[in-house]
Amino acid sequence: MAKCLIGIDLGGTTTKMAFLTHEGEITQKWSIPTDISNEGVNIVPNIIKSLKETISKSGYTTDSFIGIGMGTPGAVNIENGTVINAFNLNWTKTQHVRDQIQTALGLPFVLENDANVAALGEFWKGAGEKDTDVIFVTLGTGVGGGVIAGGQLLHGVNGGAGEIGHICVEPNGYQCTCGKRGCLEQYSSATGIVHVAKDMTATLLASLV
Ligand SMILES: [Zn+2]
Repeated sequence: MAKCLIGIDLGGTTTKMAFLTHEGEITQKWSIPTDISNEGVNIVPNIIKSLKETISKSGYTTDSFIGIGMGTPGAVNIENGTVINAFNLNWTKTQHVRDQIQTALGLPFVLENDANVAALGEFWKGAGEKDTDVIFVTLGTGVGGGVIAGGQLLHGVNGGAGEIGHICVEPNGYQCTCGKRGCLEQYSSATGIVHVAKDMTATLLASLV
């Protein structure tokens, strides 16, 4: 049997995991709650435990797999396989995710920012699969993204190439959580739209007085 892949999507509430064929077809998927208590110290051990259990329960061994890929919130250091500033996981210090999982399972492991892997997913099997240049945009409480140029994911300084939410669109505009002013995220995210709407309402009401 051809070897399979393991994919992990680490989120603030649940951690989704799947076995996939080499062609990207999901053959098995499951999820566990993400335990962010105690500065998130249980997150990686829980993933390791669940992977080991599911691998053996499904009649596989680690030899059945090529490797593991994982998307995580936060700023990822690709070379070191570490992540920092994943605030919704309570990970404010550097987390040595690759070392822990690679050592525990004995499989190659790659860590990437979640928006970047989502971009890779759309590039490989989704809306961008016919193109070599793809921009993926995440829209929620923030604005994030991933950029693929010439068929390659752009990392940029500190893995920040896809952080389009912090492009300045309004000089001297709203204060952003990143420290700058006028970032796209302050206008186009769900929270940004509410902020803009409140300001417009206030201006309108003031003009009626
Ligand atoms: Zn910003």
